[in-house]
Amino acid sequence: MNGTIFDSLREQVRGQVITPGDADYDAARAVHNGMIDKRPAAVVRVSQVADVIASVNFARDNSLDLAVRGGGHSAPGFGTWDDALVIDFVNTRGVRVDPANRTARSEAGATWADFNHATHAFGLATPGGIVGTTGVAGLTLGGGIGYLARKYGLSCDNLISADVVTADGKFLTASESENDDLFWALRGGGGNFGVVTSLEYRLHPVDMVYVGIVVYPLEHAETVSRFYRDHLASAPEELGAFLAFALGPPVPFLPEEWHGKPVCIVVGMWTGDQTEGAACWQPFLDVAPVAGSMMGPMPYPALNQAFDALQPKGILSYWKADFMTDLTDAAIGEHIRYGATIPTVQTAVHLYPIDGAVQRVGTTETAFANRDVKFAPVIAAFWDNPADNDARVSWVREYAEALRPHSAPGGYINFMDRDDLPRVAENYGPNYTRLRGIKAKYDPQNLFHVNQNISPG
Ligand SMILES: Cc1cc2nc3c(=O)[nH]c(=O)nc-3n(C[C@H](O)[C@H](O)[C@H](O)COP(=O)(O)OP(=O)(O)OC[C@H]3O[C@@H](n4cnc5c(N)ncnc54)[C@H](O)[C@@H]3O)c2cc1C
Repeated sequence: MNGTIFDSLREQVRGQVITPGDADYDAARAVHNGMIDKRPAAVVRVSQVADVIASVNFARDNSLDLAVRGGGHSAPGFGTWDDALVIDFVNTRGVRVDPANRTARSEAGATWADFNHATHAFGLATPGGIVGTTGVAGLTLGGGIGYLARKYGLSCDNLISADVVTADGKFLTASESENDDLFWALRGGGGNFGVVTSLEYRLHPVDMVYVGIVVYPLEHAETVSRFYRDHLASAPEELGAFLAFALGPPVPFLPEEWHGKPVCIVVGMWTGDQTEGAACWQPFLDVAPVAGSMMGPMPYPALNQAFDALQPKGILSYWKADFMTDLTDAAIGEHIRYGATIPTVQTAVHLYPIDGAVQRVGTTETAFANRDVKFAPVIAAFWDNPADNDARVSWVREYAEALRPHSAPGGYINFMDRDDLPRVAENYGPNYTRLRGIKAKYDPQNLFHVNQNISPG
């Protein structure tokens, strides 16, 4: 597309409009997943709501595809798109904390590292993702699973309100009391309903957390996995922990003989009384022989950023996910079988608990429907060499296929890849019809279709 048509957009916005040929173009079109190599017609790094309104109107009036980028972590790379206008929030990432009311309002470009840094100054936090570089916006709109979910729910469960620019260029606030249908849809429905310019969250007292990372030889994975499943069923919700199958990471607390070897890991944190932290982790040290472990108090933002360097921007990746109503012994068997073949140290096979506060919200209370399952597993291969692309993708697909007979319908929308689009309806289950109706109301022409798309009903 002729770059000069964007001159009129440049006149309407304060942010930067970057088109092919500009020095920043290659950096501006890139997202986290290095597998994605899209060439947008323009990337507008918005500086304020007015820029978003102008950009939405411009894309619609010029029949351009429109992609929206928060933290850029979407596995299918929905934050960039061929020949599209990309709204990029990278320059708007402020977070305003109201400590008295325990709320925070985040601009749409903030990452969890930005958010946690801001709220930690007041000894507060809200449930977010497990790494710091993920965007607050994309993660929350799809649901938001992390260490604090058992105690305080999903990220979307802690959303109080969101400011949204809809397909007709209107600016709306969505909350329980205003545009409540839109508010319902935003909590799990992804980027289908408009461009969110800011998000207001409920905060909780979370300051220092007692971190535990326990690494076991894979030969003990059956014992450890069963224990993890059974222990979590009655463990206090102050314990947020996931089970991982991985290659031993090159970290100081793991003896070198285990670096790069198949292992099973429990990673998490205790948010209760810090003097009880060591006792909370002790059963994980007792259950099976440990290859290496790390425990102790840590500021919550430090844990949130501890693994950021493992998966830097540009790393290649491919994802698959299902839900599980239970972690059956048969499913554990498949994890052990494929756990022995994990290809790289960056690869993340994680099983996140869906219980506690997440299950206290009803299936139809928010768009995020999958509240009656117990675990959200993800198989995400990460690697550096493009020559390995086919092998890594095949490995993830085979692993996911092996787990499917042990899985519930649907999978977490934020862990889906591009080829999972046909699963969207199944993922939303009983909420899909209502979502299609709300989509028809706010985006009848499907302007916002570069996402796990819900077609207008
Ligand atoms: C390394 C890594 C770790 C992760 N860890 C977790 C985790 O712990 N828990 C978890 O739940 N998920 C996790 N995820 C998945 C993550 O939730 C999704 O990739 C999510 O889409 C990322 O949001 P983003 O803003 O960074 O991505 P982007 O690629 O910027 O956005 C993804 C999509 O969200 C929508 N979107 C983003 N911003 C807006 C906006 N302002 N308005 C409207 N729509 C918008 C758009 O549809 C966009 O295509 C992780 C991903 C990665 C790569």
